[in-house]
Amino acid sequence: MPAKKKTPAVVKTSAAKTTTPATKTPATKTPATKTPAAKTTEATRTTKATRTTKTPATKTPATKTPATKTSAAKAPAAKAPAAKASVAKTAKAPAAQRVAAKPESRTALVRRARKINRELAEAYPYAHPELDFENPFQLLVATVMSAQTTDLRVNQTTPGLFAKYPTPEDLAAANPEEVEELIRPTGFFRAKTRSIMGLAKALTEEFGGEVPGRLEDLVKLPGVGRKTAFVVLGNAFGRPGITVDTHFGRLVRRWKWTDETDPDKVEKAIGELFPKSEWTQLSHHVIFHGRRICHARKPACGACPIAPLCPAYGEGETDPEKAKKLLKYEKGGFPGQRLNPPQSYLDAGGVPAPPLGGTIG
Ligand code: SF4
Repeated sequence: MPAKKKTPAVVKTSAAKTTTPATKTPATKTPATKTPAAKTTEATRTTKATRTTKTPATKTPATKTPATKTSAAKAPAAKAPAAKASVAKTAKAPAAQRVAAKPESRTALVRRARKINRELAEAYPYAHPELDFENPFQLLVATVMSAQTTDLRVNQTTPGLFAKYPTPEDLAAANPEEVEELIRPTGFFRAKTRSIMGLAKALTEEFGGEVPGRLEDLVKLPGVGRKTAFVVLGNAFGRPGITVDTHFGRLVRRWKWTDETDPDKVEKAIGELFPKSEWTQLSHHVIFHGRRICHARKPACGACPIAPLCPAYGEGETDPEKAKKLLKYEKGGFPGQRLNPPQSYLDAGGVPAPPLGGTIG
């Protein structure tokens, strides 16, 4: 069992994955090409350690193996993440290298995509919608308000809004200037006031003050597109949906799950790779990963649990120590976006966001 450090549990998991020295693994059975790797979570670390004990220390090419990078020249061995044992068992080259090197069959793509989702589920077992809500109306309004801002800022703003206007009828009858003042911190507050009041009016007049639970009804509401509709269906009604936001689109293209850029086409393409029952949770996993590790500008490849499966490994920082510094939210040891996160997130060491103007306790 690799001797690793004292970082907070969640942070430790990512770091462990990329830094665990193979040389510490006393193994005797597995061929050298089956490079070992440390696993992501504390819980699974033990299991992995058992696996790695099968690797011959003499044959393992150092701590610094496998460049999951397409070009070996671009990926200095010391910076490459250790390939996971389960991946390395399948071939001599790390998966990412193989994926990038030649066209991938449909079957291989489906397998790789599902494996990535399983790995992400291990990395983010508590993945959840990051908007605070207590009912479908609140989630719908919060989702509309989340355009061009963070979920954190919306969560810090909606408690005041919903305290004053708890129902669609209340919001529809509100004084627009008062609503504007309440939601000002989220930016574009005039346009957002028009949107959420228009939404509240439509709910009141056409749906009896209730949020409809069908896609075809939701998308008829003013300001509600498929993305917003799927957020509401998936999280407030338990109906599977894929949420193609900016993170989701960026990551699935990095992973070569699709080349599509139109959100509706992305949604369709990805929906064909996974069973419908996995769509909602898949969306959370991918969005969590995009927010915490695989950022738009500086992906933290050196701290990424799915590096061996990613054709874009090396697009970001590959040095494990530098990559760790790029991690956000709980992976970086910081608060999350929800003031009232699910218990599973708190149990995993997640810290709730402070209220607007508040400080971290
Ligand atoms: S951070 Fe993103 S680009 Fe880098 S290896 Fe991970 S998934 Fe791939």
